[in-house]
Amino acid sequence: MWCDTVQSDSSAPECSVSPSFLYIMGLTDSPLCGRCRAEKDTSVNVLCECEALSTLRHAYLGAFVLSPEDALRLSLGQSGTY
Ligand SMILES: [Zn+2]
Repeated sequence: MWCDTVQSDSSAPECSVSPSFLYIMGLTDSPLCGRCRAEKDTSVNVLCECEALSTLRHAYLGAFVLSPEDALRLSLGQSGTY
């Protein structure tokens, strides 16, 4: 993911640039995920594998860890079923 949108308390959403983008731009030494620091900050890591997001993944997608194939079968707009 290139950019995560975060909502601060009372202001408009802010854009947080991903470590992968900063790494490609030569602005940081590591492309690792800013959440788990275990994997490169890719869409697969965020959607399927990132341990730091496993609770949210389980709440919204119904599984703590997904395979990329499971992610492809996700039905957007329906939480907990894939
Ligand atoms: Zn991660």
